[in-house]
Amino acid sequence: MRRFGAADEVDVVVVGTGAGGAPVLAELAAAGLRVVALEAGPFFDPAEHTPDETDAAEINWMSERLSAGEDPTAFGPNNSGRGVGGSTLHWGAFTPRPDAAQLRLRTETGEGRDWPFGLDELLPYLLRAEQDLGVSGPADYPWDPDRLYAYPPADRNASARNMADGCRALGIRTADAPAAVLTRARSQHGLARGACISCGTCHQGCRTGAKATMGTTYLPAAVAAGAEIRAGALVHTVETDAVGRVHAVVYRQDGTDIRQPCRALVLAAGGVETPRLLLANDLATGGGQVGRNFLAHPATQVWGTFDEQQRAYRGYPSSLLTEDFLRPADADFAGGYLIQSLGVMPLTFATTLVRGGGLWGPELMAALDGARFTTGLGINGECLPSGDNALVLSGETDEDGIPRAEVSFTAGPNERALIRHATDVMVRILEAAGATSTRVLDRTAHTLGTCRMSTDPGDGVVDADGRSHEVDNLWIVDNSTFPSALAANPALTQVALALRSAERILRAAR
Ligand SMILES: Cc1cc2nc3c(=O)[nH]c(=O)nc-3n(C[C@H](O)[C@H](O)[C@H](O)COP(=O)(O)OP(=O)(O)OC[C@H]3O[C@@H](n4cnc5c(N)ncnc54)[C@H](O)[C@@H]3O)c2cc1C
Ligand code: SF4
Repeated sequence: MRRFGAADEVDVVVVGTGAGGAPVLAELAAAGLRVVALEAGPFFDPAEHTPDETDAAEINWMSERLSAGEDPTAFGPNNSGRGVGGSTLHWGAFTPRPDAAQLRLRTETGEGRDWPFGLDELLPYLLRAEQDLGVSGPADYPWDPDRLYAYPPADRNASARNMADGCRALGIRTADAPAAVLTRARSQHGLARGACISCGTCHQGCRTGAKATMGTTYLPAAVAAGAEIRAGALVHTVETDAVGRVHAVVYRQDGTDIRQPCRALVLAAGGVETPRLLLANDLATGGGQVGRNFLAHPATQVWGTFDEQQRAYRGYPSSLLTEDFLRPADADFAGGYLIQSLGVMPLTFATTLVRGGGLWGPELMAALDGARFTTGLGINGECLPSGDNALVLSGETDEDGIPRAEVSFTAGPNERALIRHATDVMVRILEAAGATSTRVLDRTAHTLGTCRMSTDPGDGVVDADGRSHEVDNLWIVDNSTFPSALAANPALTQVALALRSAERILRAAR
């Protein structure tokens, strides 16, 4: 890997190496820019990942965040990774595409926000992202007949098989899910990525390389093209010059503060850490928009109990989906949701039973004893922005003396109506598949919207290209920029947005 001196001014510093930072780093390096990525977490060799859920927490951002509101969001393993590759180290690799309607939520429903561009603009980048990640999927996609996937779908797990049965009985269409999971081995940037072996431990890190992470895709490409990645480098200060442009960052590595001068800064630290860094440095905060409009996807789960053992923890979890509820005809809410099959490891399941189901003591132990007889379904639903849902700096500081983030989230009437609708549908699917009882577990997922993109500078933090409205050499490319949550899970769109922003950053640099 090329090394720059800390005193050398580089063209661009990228903070964070997740689904936003890694593609930008690779694109800028390929175009010949001098680029350095600063990543708070360590490097992980995929061979070192362990299915043990307690040990696997090393790939999560475990430093405490304060969670408030009536529906406080769960952090730790439920949200955001820490390491070279960011959250893609532990993501589920479920990669549905957003459709045109999701990007036009306000126009279609009068609620929420439209994206500043439509699907025509985003699609080429989504296709490129699918190619780079290695996305598998069905030969026939019922909701988009033109769609093609390069690899056949992953094998269905028990939850997917029961979901298929239940949906068939109810006349709901399903398809094998698009997933950034190789079903045939391939060599990528000199790394051998194996085919999926259906072990089911994707959230603890994939040991075969079948699941795409930034560490098996864009980051090796970036290094090969001349980028430097500094791991264990926590950025805490952004320095600006007399006219307010960024000219250096200061990061802490092994207890030492190091200053890195740069001509431009790309923040890709995620939906919590990017606004936290901006607020702590009073950067781009003039419009009062940083940290506002926090969005979390309703991610309610329903688990059904069957007479026979199911062992839904085996196999690639998100192997079946339905897009039939993106705009339900009988909806009393704006937007819609996807339903996917689930598969989780025991500790994750136990945590969700406690947190989302309110179980404790003997009732919890009985539910865990019966877990192998259950299969589950979950949603990813639209969430509307609300002035009450926001990230602010708390009065408490973390291990490095930086104020902790405090995130408030309360589901509004729209989210509650969507969850009611989805819960009813999921219960009916499981009952039609033969479940003898069902259990609903409340959950939210993902951290979006806290530096949203907007055409009007008064309504967001960055423009449609990801460039700050206030500081012209500052860019944000992580999922804090989503103006609306979308029903599609965020990472594929995140990679596509990052590829698009990279083109704009290059244009600005020339
Ligand atoms: C359990 C789980 C499952 C998921 N499954 C899916 C899925 O199946 N499909 C999907 O689409 N999405 C999924 N997601 C969501 C998806 O992974 C994220 O939306 C996406 O990866 C976020 O990318 P990002 O670039 O915004 O941030 P991140 O990937 O979180 O990257 C941020 C990086 O910045 C680093 N960083 C933060 N602060 C600093 C700092 N101050 N200095 C230096 N470095 C810093 C962090 O260490 C981290 O590596 C899942 C998420 C979780 C938690
Ligand atoms: S199920 Fe497949 S993608 Fe997931 S961790 Fe195992 S091999 Fe990797």
